[in-house]
Amino acid sequence: MTPDFDCVVIGGGPAGATAATDLARSGRRVLLLDRGGRIKPCGGAIPPRAILDFEIPEHLLVARATAARMVAPSAKSVDMPVGDGFVGLVDRADFDEWLRARAALAGAERRTGSFARIERENGHPVVVLRGARDEAEQRISTRCVIGADGARSEVARTELTGVPPVPCVFAYHEIIAAPADGSADFDPARCDVFYQGKHSPDFYAWVFPHGDTASVGVGSARKGFALRASVAALRAQTGLDACETLRCEGAPIPLKPLKRWDNGRDVLVAGDAAGVVAPASGEGIYYAMAGGRYAAEAIEAYLVTGKAAVLRQARKRFLRAHGRVFWILGIMQYFWYANDKRRERFVKICEDPDVQRLTWDAYMHKRLVRAKPVAHVRIFLKDMRHLLGLAPA
Ligand SMILES: Cc1cc2nc3c(=O)[nH]c(=O)nc-3n(C[C@H](O)[C@H](O)[C@H](O)COP(=O)(O)OP(=O)(O)OC[C@H]3O[C@@H](n4cnc5c(N)ncnc54)[C@H](O)[C@@H]3O)c2cc1C
Repeated sequence: MTPDFDCVVIGGGPAGATAATDLARSGRRVLLLDRGGRIKPCGGAIPPRAILDFEIPEHLLVARATAARMVAPSAKSVDMPVGDGFVGLVDRADFDEWLRARAALAGAERRTGSFARIERENGHPVVVLRGARDEAEQRISTRCVIGADGARSEVARTELTGVPPVPCVFAYHEIIAAPADGSADFDPARCDVFYQGKHSPDFYAWVFPHGDTASVGVGSARKGFALRASVAALRAQTGLDACETLRCEGAPIPLKPLKRWDNGRDVLVAGDAAGVVAPASGEGIYYAMAGGRYAAEAIEAYLVTGKAAVLRQARKRFLRAHGRVFWILGIMQYFWYANDKRRERFVKICEDPDVQRLTWDAYMHKRLVRAKPVAHVRIFLKDMRHLLGLAPA
């Protein structure tokens, strides 16, 4: 019997919605399943490359940041103007819904329901949805499955046997009403990043503008670290404690790509489910969408050839494109976020115009610029002086 769908995509966040859109545009019968009912906790910062590659319309940008402020443990700060361009900020409630609607427009069928497990019948996967209250479970047959169900992916846990789960930073933020002009240390066109051990012993805290609102948050992998108290202290420090609190929410951020993304048969994971958030920055939206696209390409090859080996292409292609940046950011996080002395030096390094240019270029366009070898050498020497403690603090 022919399965109901060519592909069932579980999870309608940036990864799943992108994969479903691409597959539906290739004429595939796609089901996009999401459990709904919860806005993804997220700072919502996206680079121009995401806007370009995934055709994000202007109206979804609730703010444009034209600078970042890096704040050191001593409270000294360095402003990094973006130059030509901006960091886009999206509200995930509208952004994710728009992505899912685009998938439906492309021909994907949408369904609200909660993934329970995958069974197999006649050699095909059958996705079983948990029934709500008295409702019976639903069963959907398909040729293959994409698991894009986020950092705590049930698809990855149940299908990728033998693959250890990835380490996570836990992130918590509060959505607040943006302060009236001048009433706090807040600029609606600036993203503030706090490298201060008191706010996060191993990651960072932030204030991101969102038009009428702002996200004030913190991440840490340290068990028992009081994230809520840290955000309260940050709000007090920045004068944002008087602003109305609209939502409080948290979620894990995975910081390492899984060792394997497919089950060697008919299931592939993408986005947070595959562990692809950039270390050091915690940036995951662009990488989830890129991962969703690579997943769709690999699934298309699978549907054409029937060969499970082609599913491995998704991970290979992703790491070929972004593996080096992830590796560099991993080392950066490990070294520079270790203690306040190093954080102080890290922020100091950010004063360098070459560091600023190269950082923005890597973030905005997702490429490591090779055109400035002299600048790279200078930064390397400067880094070494800071690493060895030879530079003035
Ligand atoms: C506090 C915080 C701040 C962040 N800030 C930023 C930022 O500023 N910029 C940035 O780029 N990244 C940021 N990130 C990371 C970013 O949010 C994620 O990397 C990104 O959302 C991953 O997309 P995804 O589609 O893989 O997963 P998700 O966005 O998590 O989507 C998963 C989807 O799966 C659905 N789902 C889950 N389980 C089931 C189930 N059993 N059945 C059916 N559906 C299910 C969920 O409803 C959800 O819609 C932040 C993360 C956190 C926690």
